[in-house]
Amino acid sequence: RQAIVRQQRNCAYLDQQRLFSRARLALEAKLRQAIDSNELTLYVQPQFSLTIPSRLVGAEVLVRWITRDGQFISPAHFIPIAEQTGLIVRLDHWVCEHSVAMLAKYQSLLPEDFRLSVNFSAVSISRGLCEKLILDSIKRWRVPPRNLCIEITESAIMNSLVATRQSIARLRQQGFDIAIDDFGTGYSSMAYLKNLAVTHLKIDQIFTAGLENGMSDQQIVKAIAMVGKSFGHHILIEGVEQAKQATLATQLGCQFVQGFHFAKPMAWIDFVRQYLGEGHLIPALKSS
Ligand code: C2E
Ligand code: MG
Ligand code: MG
Ligand code: MG
Repeated sequence: RQAIVRQQRNCAYLDQQRLFSRARLALEAKLRQAIDSNELTLYVQPQFSLTIPSRLVGAEVLVRWITRDGQFISPAHFIPIAEQTGLIVRLDHWVCEHSVAMLAKYQSLLPEDFRLSVNFSAVSISRGLCEKLILDSIKRWRVPPRNLCIEITESAIMNSLVATRQSIARLRQQGFDIAIDDFGTGYSSMAYLKNLAVTHLKIDQIFTAGLENGMSDQQIVKAIAMVGKSFGHHILIEGVEQAKQATLATQLGCQFVQGFHFAKPMAWIDFVRQYLGEGHLIPALKSS
């Protein structure tokens, strides 16, 4: 009897697995098609200076998937599936090419020191593919590397430290900026920072959310800012949703900010209209 129960349980488990992998396969097929058929679009979220209020310093590209039947699928859902299936390399390629194209298109409107941040997956980075993708794109669109910041999550770096470190060093040599994304969540030791040729640390929004609830997250943010700045890195805080958080982050040593309080991710056209459009004074140009 026990054996039968066990067998039934096994079957239920296998059924569940099969269902799960069938759903995943279906989504994978849909995503593959989406990459080829314009169902993906790029949103951008502006980044500002905290020390020179309202000064636009850059923007992060965030991919959006709106299926033909109008369904919105969050990147938090489909990026992990793309990573597991290897589709992520094609996705990174698509995002990279279209981001650089946008940069080329709007270059004359952008502040000279504007940086467009592009996320690359652990897969593309550790296999050294990111370099080829980005160098091909900037050559094709004649965009200078200094206008681009490559974002790599801290956990991607830690997963294959040796390969990633070399990739980062070569990218930096070419003149790209490099940000460690989701900093503080990836089980790294701050000692690794001395061996990484990065330019920006992006403090994860998990710490931002806790800034007002007492001292501990404040201490973490302060420590990251202090160590990061001592290595000469720029410190950006993510996920700022309230004015109070921005004030605290500034006091704790953060220089740049990204978050719903300042601006939500938006379509390129809206970004151009709101921040670069005619009649809009670009702070960087105002002083010249
Ligand atoms: P990320 O790179 O850390 O991006 C920041 C995420 O925080 C974005 O979520 C953004 O919409 C969200 N966010 C920004 N400000 C706030 C805020 O004030 N409050 C809250 N609660 N959230 C805020 P999104 O767009 O859903 O992207 C999720 C993750 O998916 C990204 O995290 C990134 O790891 C990945 N991703 C997004 N676009 C791409 C892409 O084009 N390529 C790759 N490889 N990964 C991407
Ligand atoms: Mg990012
Ligand atoms: Mg992040
Ligand atoms: Mg994230």
